[in-house]
Amino acid sequence: MDTPTIAAIATPAGPGGIGIIKISGARAFSIAIPMFRPKKAKLPSNPLLSDQISTHHLYYGFIVNPETGHSIDEALVVFMKAPNSYTAEDVVEIQVHSGQAILMTILNLVLRSGAELAGPGEFTRRAFMHGRIDLTQAEAIIDLILSRTSRSIEAAASLLSGDFKTRIEELRFNLCDVLSRIEASIDFPDEVEEIEKISVSERLSTEILYPILNLIKRYEDCRAIRDGFKISIIGRPNVGKSSLMNWLIKKERSIVTDIPGTTRDVVEDVAMFRGIPVCLADTAGIHITHDAVEILGIEKTFESIRSSDLILLVINSAVSDFEPEISLLDKTGSIPVILVLNKIDLVANSDNINLPERCSGISSIAISVKNEINMDALVELIAEQVFQKSLVDDREGFIPNVRHARALEKSAGFLRKAISGIDNALPLELIAMDMRDAIGCIDEISGRNISDDILDHIFNSFCIGK
Ligand code: GDP
Repeated sequence: MDTPTIAAIATPAGPGGIGIIKISGARAFSIAIPMFRPKKAKLPSNPLLSDQISTHHLYYGFIVNPETGHSIDEALVVFMKAPNSYTAEDVVEIQVHSGQAILMTILNLVLRSGAELAGPGEFTRRAFMHGRIDLTQAEAIIDLILSRTSRSIEAAASLLSGDFKTRIEELRFNLCDVLSRIEASIDFPDEVEEIEKISVSERLSTEILYPILNLIKRYEDCRAIRDGFKISIIGRPNVGKSSLMNWLIKKERSIVTDIPGTTRDVVEDVAMFRGIPVCLADTAGIHITHDAVEILGIEKTFESIRSSDLILLVINSAVSDFEPEISLLDKTGSIPVILVLNKIDLVANSDNINLPERCSGISSIAISVKNEINMDALVELIAEQVFQKSLVDDREGFIPNVRHARALEKSAGFLRKAISGIDNALPLELIAMDMRDAIGCIDEISGRNISDDILDHIFNSFCIGK
């Protein structure tokens, strides 16, 4: 069965200067030609004579209803012949005035003429299916659309240009090269010299495993740039977490009361630090409770901590014993922490504050949200951390996403097994199996070896018309 020709409105809903309807597939030209009356140029009435159509040329004219001949709107139409188009199929883009009724009327005519409505991301999926882009580049397109900072645009553009794809192809090439030598020595033991196991193990480590580990590290180092920097404000109940959140985002987002346990869910909002947007999360106060809703809220606090790049651990500086508040450091793992000693207005002499020994080496600052003491210094301290995280090695450009990182981790696992197999003189067949599995994981990244479910999941995050 022929692949259907698809169509969709490619521009956002609502009135605007220009709206675009995109048609892709073998019938794109034959659907568009009968509804377009060019002002000067002549188009062949028979779409089979498509060599008479100039590709990538803007034609000016009118879109008409082919059944009644009534004019619908003035238009610029571009015909793009396969394979030199976004989808690598024949594509027509119709630019008209952007009113929802105009666009819907034209889209309906296109659908009545035999096109099917495109699903989310279907144009990009076709570009992937026809091999014009690999899966990392398809993902880069959604990254570009959703980018919020100039740095994340750069990272997506580098992914789209194929920098990461090339790196993955090099890894695959090296893996296949080593594997083919191992397989030759399994299949033709008499004809092929016995492989030099030390050099194979070394090649696997230096040419493949080490670069893979570097890519995983890059994902971890740059995650904040890709997915946005996240800060969780945590602490015991009533220490001033919500007050701090509201002060930082400059609005009354979280409820501030004297009653402990008011914030029961994680409340998130965005604040800018030196121009970098940061997601701030105000969390439920951590303490022992039997209240079922509070227990759920505290679990969410722990979840929020795990996905954070920085923790603000808020402490009431007026308490006599810091130990119970500081013990929350047990929950923060390796995530950087700033100790925020709030309510300093209630302390007669702030020089007398003695933090427990385990706090040495952790940045701390005494503030009062209520009396706005030291708030600018706190902002500077946070901004410094955010900025440092954004200054990671920029020579690479691209940043792998979480899907790539997981596949790389799986591949590294199989490679480690293969290397230890060689070192322990296991049969070459077993080593070859691990290497094939490692290649399979690499192929998940590019999309050579990927299930339809995962493809559906990736392309469903696109908008219709892309
Ligand atoms: P949370 O439970 O940790 O989110 O704490 P809240 O932000 O709801 O604040 C609890 C109480 O502490 C409220 O009555 C606040 O007005 C008060 N509070 C917050 N910050 C300060 C401060 O810097 N000094 C003083 N004296 N009180 C504060």
